[in-house]
Amino acid sequence: MELNSHMRESSCDIHKDKQVELYCHDCKENICLKCLSVNHCGHNNVEISEVADNFKLRFNGDDGDDKQIVSAISSVREQSEQTKQVAAEFRNKVEDVKKKVVATGDLVKRSVDDQINDVLMKLESVTSESDKEEQSVQEACKLGVESMENFRTRSRALLDKGRPSDITREADELHDRATELLSQSNDVTAVKYCPPHVTYTPADVTQVKRLSVVGELTTETQPGVSYLLHSYCCIRVPYFIFLCFVHVDVCFQMCTQRHNFLV
Ligand SMILES: [Zn+2]
Ligand SMILES: [Zn+2]
Repeated sequence: MELNSHMRESSCDIHKDKQVELYCHDCKENICLKCLSVNHCGHNNVEISEVADNFKLRFNGDDGDDKQIVSAISSVREQSEQTKQVAAEFRNKVEDVKKKVVATGDLVKRSVDDQINDVLMKLESVTSESDKEEQSVQEACKLGVESMENFRTRSRALLDKGRPSDITREADELHDRATELLSQSNDVTAVKYCPPHVTYTPADVTQVKRLSVVGELTTETQPGVSYLLHSYCCIRVPYFIFLCFVHVDVCFQMCTQRHNFLV
């Protein structure tokens, strides 16, 4: 470089026609012989090549600047590698956490869906039970009405068109049949269709929101061991899975009366 050519043949800054030959340790500068006699007499002056050789020896020595710089280069490179590694580990950890959050969320969603299905199925089943009950009551009513309508048709025909002797012959039987039909009709009307009471208490959604059902995420910054070392976030995810956060209460009070009638 410029440094070498400068050292090989360098003229004195003050005396342009003279080459520098000595180095004055006291003034820390290269000087020519003319300078020596004028300004540096009695100073610690040494031949430039000797000073340069000493500097080279010191620079390249075991504790020299060069060794230290080389070692510093490798430290900084190592630092860069470590940073890369820690950052990669951190990103992996974050990816793991993401997966766990999604998985936990899926579990919670599934659990909510299951609970919704349970409640809907209970409603379904109680509805079909009630439908059966209603059907049974309706059938009894239908049979009762049909029997009594038939009886009326028969008795009206007899009373309107029958001979007096026919009427007297069948009077007792008609009356007995009427009594029997009335008793059956009383039985039918005694059985009321009575669907169960269905009470639904919705879950307290505000509380559910406060519970953070998929868990909590906290990040804390960690100060590096030394100022050179990385600081990175550590993520911890405590999982609180509240599988039973929805409290659903369906109260069914079934009517106990259940009869089957044949008229
Ligand atoms: Zn000079
Ligand atoms: Zn000097």
